[in-house]
Amino acid sequence: MPEFVGAVDQGTTSTRFMIFDHDGNEVARHQLEHEQIFPRSGWVEHDPVEIWERTNSTMQNAVRQSDLSAADLAAIGITNQRETTVIWDPRTGQPYYNAIVWQDTRTDSIAAALEREHGDLIRHKTGLPPATYFSGGKIKWILENVDGVREAAEDGRAVLGNTDAWVLWNLTGGPNGGIHATDVTNASRTMLMNLETLDWDDELLDIFGIPRAMLPTINPSSHPEAFGSTRTTRPLRTAVPITGVLGDQQAATVGQVCFRPGEAKNTYGTGNFLVLNTGTEIVRSSKGLLTTLAYQFGDAPAVYALEGSMAVTGSAVQWLRDQMRIISSSAEVETLARQVEDSGGIYFVPAFSGLFAPYWRSDARGAIVGLARFHTNGHLARATLEAICYQSRDVAEAMEQDSGVALDVLRVDGGVTANDLCMQLQADILGVPVSRPVVAETTALGAAYAAGLATGFWESTDELRLHWHESKRWEPQWNDEQRERGYAGWKKAVERSLDWVEV
Ligand code: ADP
Repeated sequence: MPEFVGAVDQGTTSTRFMIFDHDGNEVARHQLEHEQIFPRSGWVEHDPVEIWERTNSTMQNAVRQSDLSAADLAAIGITNQRETTVIWDPRTGQPYYNAIVWQDTRTDSIAAALEREHGDLIRHKTGLPPATYFSGGKIKWILENVDGVREAAEDGRAVLGNTDAWVLWNLTGGPNGGIHATDVTNASRTMLMNLETLDWDDELLDIFGIPRAMLPTINPSSHPEAFGSTRTTRPLRTAVPITGVLGDQQAATVGQVCFRPGEAKNTYGTGNFLVLNTGTEIVRSSKGLLTTLAYQFGDAPAVYALEGSMAVTGSAVQWLRDQMRIISSSAEVETLARQVEDSGGIYFVPAFSGLFAPYWRSDARGAIVGLARFHTNGHLARATLEAICYQSRDVAEAMEQDSGVALDVLRVDGGVTANDLCMQLQADILGVPVSRPVVAETTALGAAYAAGLATGFWESTDELRLHWHESKRWEPQWNDEQRERGYAGWKKAVERSLDWVEV
């Protein structure tokens, strides 16, 4: 009997393959970054061929380094950066264009027109506000701007998907019988799926001008057959069943075992994503949150969620490293921020992709306010960490208002949670404890859980709950006056960012 489950985590900055044992412990991983392509201000692309190559290499390397063989894997799950869109030729596997990444804002005029003409309909059917973030506008842009793609689509020579579908199709054989499918969580981010029917919506396809034949089949997130098996060539040379597919934030929700309504997690990666399980009910937001799918396991009813998405959190740290060059690694931001006692009254609103939840303003621009001659790199580093935490507070407040559920503890995960100062600031700024589990790779773990539940490797979600253990907890240290003064300053800084008009 194979005793392990694998997970492909195709993230925004890197792709990793991880292997977990029956207790949910990591036994192997390999990770590779891919290039971030910025052709113009506001544009963000990835090369899909590079992503597929990286996926191959990480799978091969993780298996090799673990002294296991692919035959030791009972199943594989796939999780992925959501919304990022690839259109390719199913006869050759060649993409027609680079992947347009979720952070890309080139579709702002498409989003504005959708808001004017169909805003309420789109919000009601999909749970999403028209914004550059979602796949629908990106697909429309490629169909309208890349030569030959519309004709190819009408002739059945172009199919599309998010990176889950791209990786799945390639892993299951590509042009030689690859499976063109996705799951409900990924589909819920395209702006083309109806939240109630869990199917592509003809009226929306018509509004966006997207032929249905381009779209993948929508499956549950966990299913024993629907996603096929790995091809018997590279990377694994063995047919391992692929039985779980989940968008990265939904996977982290599963990895954090948020299976009951009212349970929530916040993931700190390139962006931040606070997701609250709302059960089998569709809860519509009036405070700027998304209504989305949390997961659907097999034949059980789909479970919904409210989500607050923040576009730029960890990537603001990357900006300090790669553009401002005031640090040489992401981890160094902590050392720099610890050189000062506080941010010296400056605020940094990193609205590089406009502002997502709860504002949804693609015209917002980044701002650093309150500067004086006295300020140093240390203050900017600290303001960057605070910005991650203040954005999370904006979303947490919206979530409390929409759901009536008050957070008593915030479960966290993701790359930035390695930053002890940032997590302390988060507890201070929110006024509730912050708790991180032992297995911080909850995204890959959640995909593995979805895959293992489908094959009976794990029996039930109750069994998975037993794997969750706290590794660290941060208690709030600021007093209320400090907390509210700090937050009031943040709100003013956000107004500056929203007011900014490009001349
Ligand atoms: P993703 O899955 O979105 O690619 P990860 O969970 O791997 O993201 O996290 C990567 C992000 O975390 C990067 O934006 C990086 O700048 C940030 N990061 C990593 N380590 C630290 C740290 N010690 N302090 C602050 N930010 C960090």
